[in-house]
Amino acid sequence: MARINLEHIRHAYGEKPKSEADYALKEVHHEWNDGGAYALLGPSGCGKTTLLNIISGLLQPSEGKILFDGRDVTRLSTQQRNIAQVFQFPVIYDTMTVYDNLAFPLRNRRVPEPEVDRRVTEIIEMIGLSGWAKKTARGLTADQKQKISLGRGLVRNDVNAILFDEPLTVIDPHMKWILRSQLKKLHRQFGFTMVYVTHDQTEALTFADKVVVMYDGQIVQIGTPAELFERPSHTFVGYFIGSPGMNLLPAQIDGSRVSLGTDTIALDYSPKVAAGAKTELGIRPEFIRLGREGMHVRVNKVEDIGRQKIVRAEFAGRPIAIVVPEDGEIPADPRVTFDPSAVNIYADSWRVGREA
Ligand code: ATP
Repeated sequence: MARINLEHIRHAYGEKPKSEADYALKEVHHEWNDGGAYALLGPSGCGKTTLLNIISGLLQPSEGKILFDGRDVTRLSTQQRNIAQVFQFPVIYDTMTVYDNLAFPLRNRRVPEPEVDRRVTEIIEMIGLSGWAKKTARGLTADQKQKISLGRGLVRNDVNAILFDEPLTVIDPHMKWILRSQLKKLHRQFGFTMVYVTHDQTEALTFADKVVVMYDGQIVQIGTPAELFERPSHTFVGYFIGSPGMNLLPAQIDGSRVSLGTDTIALDYSPKVAAGAKTELGIRPEFIRLGREGMHVRVNKVEDIGRQKIVRAEFAGRPIAIVVPEDGEIPADPRVTFDPSAVNIYADSWRVGREA
């Protein structure tokens, strides 16, 4: 397995890019740890597949270098990079048996047959197809075929990294959950460097140690699920992670005082923001307290989601969401307070830290 360095990588599909907007991938400069499980998360078109294909060698970046354990592999093919890949749709041999499909990547590398058998038996059990080992792949359903693709990606243990591009799209929800847990277990057991592309936050947050959030061709944050939840670096992360996402309110900053319409709250620090920057306060729905004290709010709707309720309200002329416990009451004259430790301040969409 390898440490991956992405050095000032940029990519444009068209020739002679002139401006930032011409790049599908704006500058990416990061080090990913050997043995890390990373999820690339972001909406459609943000550049996830482009970045994954640059790591695998299917695509040469327009600019920058990619290193595996310090070795420049930018011009090497996927095969030379020694990468395993699992795509969104099955890539298997229909005329081969399930067993032979799984054995193929090993036999191709001249792995001794007893070792092939050991690995294939382990993987075939993991994907739940032991009973199908001797059947040809042709007659299988789409999700069974995809499980074989997944198994083929996992069967070798000498690869530098395993890359997954939305691999569970065609798998039914229950099996999705099982396979995701097994991937996580395999990762713990073997310490593979894994990069997993998805636009599904649950999938990313449950699979990865580090989630790489992408937006508009950029990496906007790399963090643990807790970091993304508590300290989103960019307003997009606040909005995209969590359900409902973070509330964002236009805010005037004056030292440690933050004005939200006619209300003012005090912080225990003074965010440093450049003059003229667009400033906002971010607070997650879980950290707003609804009660009889604090700032006025107008409740519009209450959604019961089981153990909690989501209150849709209007605050300082803006819609906000508040999460309250199932038995939480909604007073006749509702007010809100914000948990000071959960308030984040943003200037031109980027979080302003206490240390800035
Ligand atoms: P999705 O989740 O829909 O697969 P993504 O985040 O993986 O999206 P990419 O497929 O990397 O995004 O696409 C990033 C941008 O590059 C998009 O604007 C897309 O239209 C563009 N793009 C992708 N592939 C090509 C290509 N072969 N030629 C030209 N433009 C492309």
